[in-house]
Amino acid sequence: MITLAKPVITQNDKKAVLGVLSSGKLSAGENVAGFEAAFSRYHSTRHAIAASNDTTALHAALLALGIKPGDEVLCPAFTFIATANAVLFCGAKPVFCDSDMHTFNISANDIERKLKSNKKIKAVIMVHLYGLACDMRAIRRIVKKHKLLLIEDCAQAIGAQYAGKKAGTFGDIATFSFYATKNMTTGEGGMIITDDKRLAARCRLLVNHGRTSRFTHDILGYNYRMTDFQAALGLSQLSRVNALNNKRIQNAKRLSAGLKNLSWLKTPYVPPGYKHVFHQYTVKIAQGRERLMKYLEKQNIRCALFYPIPLHKQKLYKKLGYGKVRLHNAEKLANQVLSLPVHPALSKKDLNKIVSAVKSYGKN
Ligand SMILES: *Cc1c(COP(=O)(O)O)cnc(C)c1O
Repeated sequence: MITLAKPVITQNDKKAVLGVLSSGKLSAGENVAGFEAAFSRYHSTRHAIAASNDTTALHAALLALGIKPGDEVLCPAFTFIATANAVLFCGAKPVFCDSDMHTFNISANDIERKLKSNKKIKAVIMVHLYGLACDMRAIRRIVKKHKLLLIEDCAQAIGAQYAGKKAGTFGDIATFSFYATKNMTTGEGGMIITDDKRLAARCRLLVNHGRTSRFTHDILGYNYRMTDFQAALGLSQLSRVNALNNKRIQNAKRLSAGLKNLSWLKTPYVPPGYKHVFHQYTVKIAQGRERLMKYLEKQNIRCALFYPIPLHKQKLYKKLGYGKVRLHNAEKLANQVLSLPVHPALSKKDLNKIVSAVKSYGKN
């Protein structure tokens, strides 16, 4: 069976976690502090705040930025639902933008279009989807011109780069996920990074009951903390994340070399100047996607649709009045994308099997 994802847990990972479990100090302690320090070093940012997952990290980041009821926040419709739900948690309103057909990322043109007709927009959440950074040049220009806040949802993009700069260092604040299938994992977990001291201090309060000392609570906060054994796993994984990403990149190269000349399938596009870290290896298939999926499943190759339903078409958002929203590309992509296995635990043989299975399907 070739699975779609597989966490790579080494002996060192296990040792690190067991060490904390044996210490008796399970809640946030020196490993959380160490993981935060290592994470901010990795990104060359001033501050990092650990959280229980990326969804809570996003919520805290938006609150720290001052997003409140009455505000509107741009975000892609073609993403995981947590991105937009974090806006709802703040009582604010997500405004869905269309995506680019080639990069799958939020369309800078559509951001500009939405800004023309809407004066309530305070911020943009970018999602560096599948591990490819967004169109940072265009988006940074727009954000500056309209004085918007910029949040990066880097759940899928740790280590991704544009122009030699890491994802998570382009905006005011960025968040990460360490869910089991992400490029590095702590089972569940998240992180916030920022260069802004004031934002960092607010996030630190928000994830820990607004607590300023043992018995004092200054603002309404939450329990969004990470445990110390998760942080120990995170530290250990972070030390290998570049190697894990490089393996994904190599695997993607092999898949793309094997699949490049198929008229009915488009391999992922990596624009010049970008380092794509291939959280997902996602191809586009104009027709017959479901049949190909079944064909691959029969050969014990798992694949998946990220995402079959754009957010404005989800029942939750339809009930909230988004039923009439039309986003041509997001809707089209939802019908065309297919993610094939690309995780670091794949062997050359696995990759060859995936390539020949896809190719043999085309011959039928
Ligand atoms: C995984 C993911 C999330 C949610 O992360 P959790 O850590 O599971 O809360 C949010 N946004 C995107 C784009 C994701 O891929």
